[in-house]
Amino acid sequence: MNRTELLKTITDLSHEFGTTEYVRGGGGNTSCKTADTLWVKPSGTTLAGLQPETFVAMDRAALQKLYTLAIPTEAAAREEQVKEVMAAAVKPGQNARPSVEAPLHDVLHGTFVVHVHPAEVNGLTCARDGRAACLKLFPEALWIPYIDPGYTLCMDVRRRVLDFTAQHGQPPSLLILENHGIFVTADTPAEIRLIYRRVMDEVRNEYAAAGIATVLPVAPPALPDVVARVADELRDALSSHATGIAYSGRFAVVNGPLSPDHIVYAKSFPFVGEPTRPNIEAFRQKHGYAPMIVVTPIGVFGVGASQKKAALALELAQDAALVVQLTAAFGGVQFMADRAREFIEHWEVESYRAKQMA
Ligand SMILES: [Zn+2]
Repeated sequence: MNRTELLKTITDLSHEFGTTEYVRGGGGNTSCKTADTLWVKPSGTTLAGLQPETFVAMDRAALQKLYTLAIPTEAAAREEQVKEVMAAAVKPGQNARPSVEAPLHDVLHGTFVVHVHPAEVNGLTCARDGRAACLKLFPEALWIPYIDPGYTLCMDVRRRVLDFTAQHGQPPSLLILENHGIFVTADTPAEIRLIYRRVMDEVRNEYAAAGIATVLPVAPPALPDVVARVADELRDALSSHATGIAYSGRFAVVNGPLSPDHIVYAKSFPFVGEPTRPNIEAFRQKHGYAPMIVVTPIGVFGVGASQKKAALALELAQDAALVVQLTAAFGGVQFMADRAREFIEHWEVESYRAKQMA
C-alpha cells in the first residue's frame, strides 16, 4: 500500500471502530505505519471524526529515542521529557499533538493498530477473574496488568511484547489491558476485523451463557417540569461547574474508578444525595473536585462546564454501569487502586484531552 491507501484504510477502520459499541468521547486511538513513519490519531480528536489528513505523521527513529533515553523517575519531570521527545518526533509543518499512546503504537508490529475501550471487553478487563478468563478465552493474547498510561505503559508493553515474541516465535496481535481496553494490530484491515469479531463473539457468548444482559436497564425519565426543577437546584448548588446539564432516568451508577477514560470524563465518584450547596461543598472537600455525576431520586444528572462535557459524563457513567453489570460473568468488579486513580486525576496530558473535548 502507498501512503494514500494506508491513510484511507486507517480512516475507514477508525470510523468503523469509532462507534459507541467500541468507544466513548475522544477515547481510543488508531495508527498506521511504514518502516520510517507512524501516522497516529491526534490528541483531542474522536475516532469517528478522523480524516486521512488529520493523522499526525511522526518520525519513528526520533520517537524510538524514548526507548534508550535516561528518563527521570519522578512523574512530572518524566512526562515533561517524554512530551519533548514526542514533539520533536512530529514531522515539520503540523500543528496537532499526537496521542499520548503514540509510542505504544510504534512498539506494536503490525501496519495497522486499532485501540478501543468496548464495554463488552471491559466487562472482562475490569473483572476480578479477568486475567484467568483472558488466558482461557484468548490464549493467543498478551494480557497487560494495569499500569499508568503514557510512557510507563509504553515501556511495560514493549518489554512484554519482546518477552512474548521470544517465547512464542511471533509478536502478539491481540493485547488486553486490565482496567483499560484492547489493542489489535495486523498488516491488513481484514485481519484487524477478524480479531475484533472473534473477541466480541467470545465475550458475548460468555455473557449469554451467564444470563447477563449486554444492555443497561435505564428507568423511564421523570416529567419534564420535575427534571427542570431539580436541574435548577443543581445549577444553584454547583454554579459555574454546572453550565451544562444532561439527564437520564435512574440506572445503577458506579461508585469507584474503572478505567482511565471513565475517570477523565466522569470522575471516579458520583455525588449521591440532596444536591444542596453545603452538601456539594462537602463532596468537593472530600474528593478535591466538583461532581460530574449527581444521583437523585428522580434520576441521574451529568454536569459540566459545557453541555457537551455534561452529556459525555453521563454517557461514561452509563458505560461504567454496563461494564460493572457485565463483570458479573467474570467474578465481579475490580476497581483501580487509589494510587492508579490519583495518577489519572493529576495527569496533565489527559486533562489536555478533556479540555479539547469541551
Ligand atoms: Zn485507551
